[in-house]
Amino acid sequence: MHRRQFLRLSALTVGAIPLARHYTFAQPWQQAWNIRMLRRNVGIFTEKGGTIAFLLSKEGTIVVDTQFPEQAAHLLGAFKERGGSSIDLLINTHHHADHTSGNLTLKEASKHLLAHSNSKLNQEKQAKARNTENAQWYPDQTFSDKWCQDIGKESICLHYFGPAHTNGDSLVHFEKANVVHMGDLLFNRIYPNVDKASGASIQNWMLVLDRAYNVFNKKSIFVCGHGHEADAVTVDREFLREMKFFFENLLDFVNRQIKAGKTRDEITALTEIPGMEAWKDKNGFARVNLAAAYDELTV
Ligand SMILES: [Zn+2]
Repeated sequence: MHRRQFLRLSALTVGAIPLARHYTFAQPWQQAWNIRMLRRNVGIFTEKGGTIAFLLSKEGTIVVDTQFPEQAAHLLGAFKERGGSSIDLLINTHHHADHTSGNLTLKEASKHLLAHSNSKLNQEKQAKARNTENAQWYPDQTFSDKWCQDIGKESICLHYFGPAHTNGDSLVHFEKANVVHMGDLLFNRIYPNVDKASGASIQNWMLVLDRAYNVFNKKSIFVCGHGHEADAVTVDREFLREMKFFFENLLDFVNRQIKAGKTRDEITALTEIPGMEAWKDKNGFARVNLAAAYDELTV
């Protein structure tokens, strides 16, 4: 289906409030932003950076992740056009700049900012290292294992299943809508970032995916932090198995290379991971994956 036609149809499905918008700027290098509703007032915003998920309703508004200042302003503008000028709860799935740089832009409109305690520590560390402390809004609320609250007709729960993409990744479940924002625990068929400096663990990441597979169900809609196309950021539960297989294949491949006598430099010089041809290396993360696998297998 043509993209514009699809967006128009998805706008119709949310009834009187046409939330799906698609702007193309005059300059070709500027990206369009897009809002797509998923289920029960829960939708996603995509433009630049990690996917934003939100609940927008008269009884309460929640925003998960903030991309960059310009994108956060676009989101807030879209909300204001529909009467939603305040955010009851802002959440960061993890600290990476493409998920948190818009925090400060949304501070005035937001009552609270919530993240895993490790995510807050990582955000502080990252800002100090990059000398961007003046551009931050840090979480005023943190949690360790599980955090739940009812907001209007929705119930939201944050889960922490241990280190994976970083050591502070939250899974954010809109329970009534049954939509789960997985943050960067899911990269839809592109090589993921494995942030070892922030406590990532490939081996535990596979366990996290198993646990998510069992905690959620086949009707759950999973939101990915990133996808092979701008709008390819929602998947069903079976993709969690595919993502786990990506890592199984990676560890198996690197293990065979180590046994064949290859050095770390030789292994990490590769630009693709054999066996995962359906997956693209959109951000040059082949080396990151190979190095992380090597380091975990040679501890
Ligand atoms: Zn990330």
